[in-house]
Amino acid sequence: MMKVANGILMEKMVADEMSGHCVRKLNCDFMPEETMEQQAFGLVGGKISNNILSVQMVVPLYENFRYDESLRQDMNEAIMNHSIPSELAVEERAWIASPKEVQKALALFDKYDLSLIGSYHMHHENSWNGVQSKELPSKLDEYLARDSEMVMFIVYISEFGEAKVRAFYEGKLGEEMEIFLK
Ligand SMILES: [Zn+2]
Repeated sequence: MMKVANGILMEKMVADEMSGHCVRKLNCDFMPEETMEQQAFGLVGGKISNNILSVQMVVPLYENFRYDESLRQDMNEAIMNHSIPSELAVEERAWIASPKEVQKALALFDKYDLSLIGSYHMHHENSWNGVQSKELPSKLDEYLARDSEMVMFIVYISEFGEAKVRAFYEGKLGEEMEIFLK
């Protein structure tokens, strides 16, 4: 998707589902089929009309595919070269969607005549050290989203468990898209 929309219209129910997924993972309330870590990642389905991008569905993903042997090394290198130091070990950061789960989500979007327009993931107080706002994409996020033609939704969960969602085209700080809840 090229950046043709200026704003994002999101159903409150969909925003709540996104935030609920993140809060649940942060609280370590895992489901059996889920990678057990305090990270949350999901896909976002929607459509564009009249310069407004409307988000209608989110699909939380379960398996973090970055632990797959074929990808592990590349991702570790990207993290070491591009991320802000964190308390978390390099191995415990970042998410790669499992191809199987992506297939399933795309089929679901197709059924409802939606397109994959982006992804969401969680930031929280311990995502990295230092003063840079956790509501914003990190350098690593921007690196991973370059040329994706997708919207990156950052769900920030505060230390009090409150969620705030912001959206950035291709994870770029200068390309924030305003979200309107309906
Ligand atoms: Zn991030």
